[in-house]
Formats: sequence, structure tokens, C-alpha cells
Amino acid sequence: MSRIYDVAVIGAGVVGMSILRELTRYRLKVCSLEKMEDVAEGASKANSGIVHAGYDPIEGTKKARFNVEGNNIFADVCNELDVEYKMIGSLVVAFDDYEINVLEELLQRGKRNGVKGLEIKSQEWVFENEPNLSRNIKAALFAPYSGITNPYKLTVALFENAIQNGADVIFRFEVCKIEKDGDYFVVHSADSRFIKTRVLINCAGVHADEISKMAGAKLFKIYPRRGQYYILDKPEKMPVARVIFQVPTEKGKGILVTPTVDGNVLVGPNSEYIDSKDDTATTQEGLDEVFEKARKVLPSLSKRDVITIFSGIRATPDTHDFIIEEDEDVKNFINVAGIESPGLTASLAIGRYIAELVSRKLNAKRNLNFNPYREDIKRFSKLSDEEKERMIKLYPSFGNIVCRCELVSEYEIVEAIKRGARTIDGIKRRTRAGMGRCQGGFCTPRVIDILSRELGVSKTQITKFGKGSYILTEKRWGK
Ligand SMILES: Cc1cc2nc3c(=O)[nH]c(=O)nc-3n(C[C@H](O)[C@H](O)[C@H](O)COP(=O)(O)OP(=O)(O)OC[C@H]3O[C@@H](n4cnc5c(N)ncnc54)[C@H](O)[C@@H]3O)c2cc1C
Repeated sequence: MSRIYDVAVIGAGVVGMSILRELTRYRLKVCSLEKMEDVAEGASKANSGIVHAGYDPIEGTKKARFNVEGNNIFADVCNELDVEYKMIGSLVVAFDDYEINVLEELLQRGKRNGVKGLEIKSQEWVFENEPNLSRNIKAALFAPYSGITNPYKLTVALFENAIQNGADVIFRFEVCKIEKDGDYFVVHSADSRFIKTRVLINCAGVHADEISKMAGAKLFKIYPRRGQYYILDKPEKMPVARVIFQVPTEKGKGILVTPTVDGNVLVGPNSEYIDSKDDTATTQEGLDEVFEKARKVLPSLSKRDVITIFSGIRATPDTHDFIIEEDEDVKNFINVAGIESPGLTASLAIGRYIAELVSRKLNAKRNLNFNPYREDIKRFSKLSDEEKERMIKLYPSFGNIVCRCELVSEYEIVEAIKRGARTIDGIKRRTRAGMGRCQGGFCTPRVIDILSRELGVSKTQITKFGKGSYILTEKRWGK
């Protein structure tokens, strides 16, 4: 296989997909190279999903700039892409005078970063508006423009819209060698495929330092920093209405408690440097730390409500800021690296910035056929009874419920496959089948059946997330 592109983006996380989508606004031949079987397999699938206001990053940094710019455009882009985004606001809570001083610093920094609406609220205000929080809280910084979204659904939506507008995404393409051939980069995969491209953009998350080195570009180091979480069952009444942070420390923004856009409660993350860049294990020690610290804020928190645990790995750079620049020595090689938090928030603004930079470099014309809109899959759980009936008449599989916890129909699973899902996790992230209380105990075999039928492959070939993660090992009896 050999293909020639104007621009190739390495990595199909939220940053890579945002850049890819923005590039399709121009008349350019563009692609993304992703080593896994699907988009959002790195940090973009395992984070807090917070759209940060922008009071936390130090003023003058790229983090501060792209955080605030990203926050400003988040609602509009989610609207175009039919992705859930709720601007529920956030509180940073302080327990003593020292922490109240930190709130004041954050308020001033936020103002310098251009964050609107920040206010320090009294203890009375906090208890009136968040009655379940600890009575030991003395004050809180309120950021009305903080919000929540679903990070992997956003990544999927950016991917689908980029494809709709003519981009290619090449999966199972693990970049292992980069050479120059005249004006082109020749990018090789571990399984001996290659593509050629005029501009190469490095969005490889925790592995971005290795890619930069491969291209002979700037040397920097990415340290993997893991964060562990609990997800709680959907409560009858949300214990918190906003994102509740504790005061940040040198280790990061601290452990938060927040509603998710899907109606669960998310608690975490801690912060621990680890040796392996891909070690997403959870540990008893890490989870205990998360629980204890979160309970300080929300005393009613109970482990009985936990339905699952997970961890994500931050790509922490040794430069202490996002690395977003064309390399000084390797022309047309652009690093978009070290995108740790607030990278989800920043991703949409980074996408615009990089696409404009590249379009100027290549003197690219506008793509007049660019369509910014993408429609989400119709969800059984979201429709009224009349709408359900109408859909079932049109598509009988809409009435066949596969995941009973989250009320996901067969129609939604088939639609997810048509749009690119190839694995159990791909279905889960697009439809929520397997994300409910039983965590896939009942629906996983049925999802395997549907994947096998729709893809025309044996059930033993279906994987959880690609790369040999098979679920069934052999056929013993029956069909
Ligand atoms: C615990 C945690 C909490 C966070 N919370 C928030 C938050 O609340 N709000 C916020 O704004 N941000 C948050 N972030 C940050 C946010 O998740 C990241 O900034 C964002 O997801 C980074 O996206 P990315 O595309 O750069 O990287 P990734 O999503 O990691 O994508 C990188 C991709 O590159 C691929 N890749 C790697 N090497 C190769 C190769 N050799 N060849 C081909 N492909 C390759 C990987 O498979 C992966 O798909 C959090 C991060 C973590 C870990």
C-alpha cells in the first residue's frame, strides 16, 4: 500500500481528530495514522470530561491560551457535531485560610487569562447551592462557564465529521520509522505499509516524544502520569450539581466529584508517575487515595454505588507546557505534544490553530463543500413513546433492546458498526451498551453476535479493543 497526502496526522485521539476535521475545511488530501483499531484509545477515552474554565494554567502559557479559546468555542462545536455538553459550572472548595488564599490567586490568574464570571462564594452560598458538601468547607471559587462533556463521543464525532468531509483514517498503522524523500516524509508502519506526506503532525499522546525523535526533530520527554477513577451508578438524585474540585497542588487539579453527561457520578483522579506509558491498571492504593480525598468533600460518598473503576494516563512533558510548534530543524514537521489536562478543552482551539497554520504553509484554498454538521445515532433511551413507535415502524431492530441497563437497541449497535465501530469497546463508547450497572454481563455476548454478523467474521475474531484482545477462544459446539 502506498498513498500520497498533503498532510498526515499521527494519532487519533481528540487532538488528532480535531486537527483532522479542521484540515478538511481546506482543499487538502489529509489522513490520520492510528496504531489501534479505533479512535479515542489513549487519554481521550479515560479522563474527567471537564471543559475547564481556564483559571488554572499559568498566564502566558499555551495551556492558558488554548484552554480559554477552547472553552469559548466548545458549545458551538458540540452543537455542530450533536455531542452533549452541559455548562454546569464548577466550584473549587477551600477548607482553611491557606486554601482561601489559593482561591484568591486562582481568581486573579483566571482574570488575567481572560476567564469570565469568576467569583469567590461564601460558605452559606455553597451550602445553599450544594447541600451535600462537607460542612467544613469555608468558601469556594465559582466558575460559571466550566462544563462537562463526553470525551470519547466528542472524538468519535470529530472522526465521523472528518470522514464525511473527505479525510482518511488508517487504523492499525503503528508508525515505526520516518524518512525524508525530497519534499515528502515517508512514514512507515510496523507491518510494512507506508504513506507519503508533505506535512506531518505528531499527536501521538504519551508516545509523542518517540515520534519526534523518529523524525529527527526536537528532543523532549513525556512522563506518563496516571489518574484513577470510580464511576458510580446513576443516582435518583445527583449529590452535586456542579463539578467540585479541591484546591490544586503541584500534582495537578486534585480529586473531583462531578455529574457526567450520561447521569453517573465520576470521582477521581489521583496523580502518580508510572514507568510504563501504557499501564492503565488500577491499584487498591490509588483507588483508596481517591475515595478518601473525595469523601472529605462529599461525606455521603459510598463504595456501594460504585459500578466500575478505570484509569487514564496523562502525557506530562518535561517542558511544563503544551508543545505546539513546527520544528526548527525539520521543516513541515509539527509537534502537538505534551497535551495533558486541559487538553480536552483545548483540543478544539488547537485544531483550528494548526489547520490555519498548515493551510498558510501549503497555500491551501477553502473547501467550499465543507459541512460542519454531523448527526448522532438516534437513541432509544432519549426518545418519547411516539418517536420510539415511529422509529420501530421504520426500523424494527429499534424495538430490539440489547443492553437492558442502558436501553440500547440493536439498531444503534448496527448503526455504530456502519459508522466505524469494530470492537466491543468501540460499540460501548458509541452506544453505551455495557456501560450500565451490569457492565456488559448480559449484553456482551449479544454484541459479539451482532459484530460477527455485520462484519462477516467469526465470533472468535471479535476483540475487546483490537491487538489480540479476543473474547472467545474457540468454537466448541452449536453454530
Ligand atoms: C486522568 C486524566 C484526566 C484528564 N481530565 C481532563 C479534563 O477533565 N479536561 C480536559 O480538558 N483534559 C483532561 N485531560 C487531558 C486530555 O484527556 C488529553 O489532553 C487529551 O485526551 C489528549 O488527546 P491526544 O489526542 O493528544 O492524545 P491521546 O488521546 O492519548 O491520543 C494519542 C493517540 O496516538 C496513538 N499513537 C501513539 N503512538 C502511535 C504510533 N506510533 N503510531 C500511530 N498511532 C500512535 C495512540 O494510540 C492514541 O490513539 C485528562 C487526562 C487524563 C489522563
